[in-house]
Amino acid sequence: MASSRSLFGPSTGAASIFSGPTPPQYKLGVKSDAFSTALAAASSFPGAQHVHDPRLPLSRDVDTSGGVVTCRVDSATFIVHRAVLDKSSEFLKTLASLDSESALLLPHQNTEAFALYSKWLYTSAIISTPKDGGDSSTSKDTAEWKVLAKAYVLGEELIDVDFKDTVIDALRAKFKSKEGGTVWEVAADLVRIIYGGTSADSTARRFMADLYHGYALASTFEERSLPSDFLFDLARVGLTRVLKNQMSCARCEYHEHGADKACYLDRRG
Ligand SMILES: [Zn+2]
Repeated sequence: MASSRSLFGPSTGAASIFSGPTPPQYKLGVKSDAFSTALAAASSFPGAQHVHDPRLPLSRDVDTSGGVVTCRVDSATFIVHRAVLDKSSEFLKTLASLDSESALLLPHQNTEAFALYSKWLYTSAIISTPKDGGDSSTSKDTAEWKVLAKAYVLGEELIDVDFKDTVIDALRAKFKSKEGGTVWEVAADLVRIIYGGTSADSTARRFMADLYHGYALASTFEERSLPSDFLFDLARVGLTRVLKNQMSCARCEYHEHGADKACYLDRRG
């Protein structure tokens, strides 16, 4: 029977998962030639660049210590860590009276939009893309448009610039993707949602005006009940641009952070 040894050194008589010749022994603090060779081999491990690394930089850390806040949105209830909310939302940061016994009441906001927000707070990701395939993939695509627009309006109320900038990037990326054409099925609804929950200088309003001016056809512009503020913005864009412009791909084109606040893209590491 071959001699056996433990995982961490010479055999002490206990059962081991390894058996075979005794390996080179290393003294602490002394690098033998064999040890150096093994290290070099490990650093040039074939295919190492393809190994998935699940670690994230500490700039993506989430503070899950301390109390939680109960958020009541429409008919649903969400529990979010106070420190996580405070870090992101200027509105909640100033709401000092909101302790663990209180609840944040947002009955007029959309449940799916808040679910999107609560997941984004912890992951920095917009988890909304429908799965490909299935008969209802188109309706899921159109539903995603509306949830994203409602999420933007939620970010406006919570004064969360990073979230708004992330959501507007998601809307632009969706429009530039293969399902971008589905926007025209709900574009009028998106205009009503965005204009109903943002201020006059909102970059999301400019995004909607650019979308229509750059890409809408006469057949996609048949709604007579669009908000007058939007029609004014669209007319103004039309007067300043004779030719249709492609939607800008500049990174911060539709971001609200301005010069005083770092872009979320620069801070996520
Ligand atoms: Zn930016």
